[in-house]
Amino acid sequence: MFGTNGVRGIINKELTVELVLNLSRAIGTVLGPGKTAIARDSRMGGEMFTYASMSGLASTGCSVVNLGSVPTPTLQYMTPRLGCNAGVMVTASHNPPQFNGIKVIGSNGIEITRETEVQLENVYHSHEFKTVNWNEIGEITHYTTAVDEYTKGIKSLVNGDKIREKKLKVVIDGANSVGSVVTPRLLRELGCKVVSLNAQLDGSFPGRNPEPIPENLTDLSRAVVAMGADLGIAHDGDADRATFVDETGRVLWGDQSFALIASRVLAKKRGSTLVTPISSGRLIEDVAQKAGAKIDWTEVGSVVVSHRIDEIGAELGGEENGGVFYPDHQPVRDGAMTASQIVEMIALEGKTLSQLVSELPTYFNTKVKVPVPQDKKESILTALLDISKNMNRITIDGIKIIRDDGWILIRPSGTEPLYRCFAEGKTQETADRLSEEGVKLIERAKKLV
Ligand code: MG
Repeated sequence: MFGTNGVRGIINKELTVELVLNLSRAIGTVLGPGKTAIARDSRMGGEMFTYASMSGLASTGCSVVNLGSVPTPTLQYMTPRLGCNAGVMVTASHNPPQFNGIKVIGSNGIEITRETEVQLENVYHSHEFKTVNWNEIGEITHYTTAVDEYTKGIKSLVNGDKIREKKLKVVIDGANSVGSVVTPRLLRELGCKVVSLNAQLDGSFPGRNPEPIPENLTDLSRAVVAMGADLGIAHDGDADRATFVDETGRVLWGDQSFALIASRVLAKKRGSTLVTPISSGRLIEDVAQKAGAKIDWTEVGSVVVSHRIDEIGAELGGEENGGVFYPDHQPVRDGAMTASQIVEMIALEGKTLSQLVSELPTYFNTKVKVPVPQDKKESILTALLDISKNMNRITIDGIKIIRDDGWILIRPSGTEPLYRCFAEGKTQETADRLSEEGVKLIERAKKLV
């Protein structure tokens, strides 16, 4: 049932009220008894699924605290602070409008581990739900100050006086979802002049597709330039990520904003540790090396990064898609925290965002998909491991082959019948050549199985 970030499906087809009800009964059975926090983004069916989930939880004796429409990181921030045993987020993050889903949060505010997901799946499929007596049914209450407490937490970690002095002009594209509930208000309180785009909560996503990638952010780019703003900020559907637009209207790559934050946070302490998935590139390695920090590589996926940060007490985590984990605040991706860190950097260093980015090393990459038969995915990986055994490589998740002039990452897709091949080099030609090499390796492995 669970994918890389919770359960997702098309509303009323794959993701039904019955599924959410029974999944919530399983959550109450496995993670209860106690208090569970719940929240939703602006997606269609959000309210319907929230009620289904609250009913399921209450039937197991869990009391439910409904935070309303707030970002996933707001729910994650509040879950341990309200003494909850779990959190339920009704969201499908950046997926297209017809999707909704459920993210399950543990008592520490981090999405549950794969092991707990398996426990939930077992209870869900066996229908061995806990059902309490009539006089033990959980209470359902509303909690209205989550955003106040969450924004207060973020403001305590940035230099508000410096930001206020600069009177920066910021355009915020909230994707017609819950990012709009937090970030415009937060940055206004920090003294920025804020212009909002797509700020009304609307699950049909009339403004743009909720994934904050360059092709969806042309309106934001144009608005930043037309208004002479210092930067633009775009969130995904549940605002755990932020993508940035510089003052010239250029959309930054996720690894550029991550690298800017990493270079500042890691340099604060000698010997810091950065947790990042194997898919991150040389830019992050360069930045970490310059700051005297070590890198702890993980499998691809935000949940493993969060748990690893928590486990080893790392100073920072990040992903090449722009997810930044700042554990002084909380060890999970957090779009509003990330936005505040970039705004603070511009204010403190007196440089424009494009200047800050131009100081970073540049790398080029190529991404290719190679179709393979679904039932051969495993055996192709075994063959690839054998073919590459004498190469300089890392095999935490797929195979990352390290070369002097770049690297190649070959991984099977979790859901589709294909392999993904990412390559990165100092020039586009190098990236293309390495990518071709990766594709040839996959084709060779295909012939061997
Ligand atoms: Mg998200």
